[in-house]
Amino acid sequence: MLADNYAWILHNGVDAAVVDPGDAEPVLRFLERVKLRLSHVFITHHHADHCAGAVELKRAFGCPVIGPDDVRVPYVDHAVRDYGGFSVLSESLQVMATPGHTMTHVIFHFPNLRAIFTGDTLFCGGCGRILEGTPAVMLQSLIKCIGVEDITSVYCGHEYTEENLLFATTVEPDNKDVWQRLADVKYLQRRNLPTVPSTIAVERATNPFLRTGSPELRKKLGMQSATGVDVFAELRKRKDRF
Ligand code: ZN
Ligand code: FE
Repeated sequence: MLADNYAWILHNGVDAAVVDPGDAEPVLRFLERVKLRLSHVFITHHHADHCAGAVELKRAFGCPVIGPDDVRVPYVDHAVRDYGGFSVLSESLQVMATPGHTMTHVIFHFPNLRAIFTGDTLFCGGCGRILEGTPAVMLQSLIKCIGVEDITSVYCGHEYTEENLLFATTVEPDNKDVWQRLADVKYLQRRNLPTVPSTIAVERATNPFLRTGSPELRKKLGMQSATGVDVFAELRKRKDRF
């Protein structure tokens, strides 16, 4: 939806939950078409492209909004940080606080579904800009994110994968997995198909922001003996200008 945002819908055939409805209209249209009733709205952070549709959906279905503990989203019913007690559509849910892109950013992990909704923290092939945190805080959040099982599917907030992987080839030009993934992603994009979700394993192998320990990447940046945080900060700086 919008220019390059993703909203995600989980359902059990009757009830549905939506993650990051930046616009209500396409969500309403979809739910109407497949005859689902919305039971929960999830938002990862306060940016309009992730939550502008939340109030209208809440009003239409009378369902609760679960999201960050932040005055910038006053309509949130269940404000969450790190929290593990939820069950949604009979599936257990673990919420993780992942500050960095914004200070109150949260992500939603469904361990039994092996799915994680990462908003603007972890992107496929990249990560969100650091708008409110520091590189150390953001790196910590990414590490937390990828602490889930390797086979977990990664559902992020934007279709930025191709551009992210183009950047990855500049900092790790000998990483064959990056080039292979870039080819796969180009194939999908030429056909107007989504490149999301990926998996935690794929991200570990190809996402430069998760590879601050890579000897090739460090050599390329001339930072062989720098700390992980410094390498991460340099990567983020370069990506911001890319
Ligand atoms: Zn954002
Ligand atoms: Fe966004």
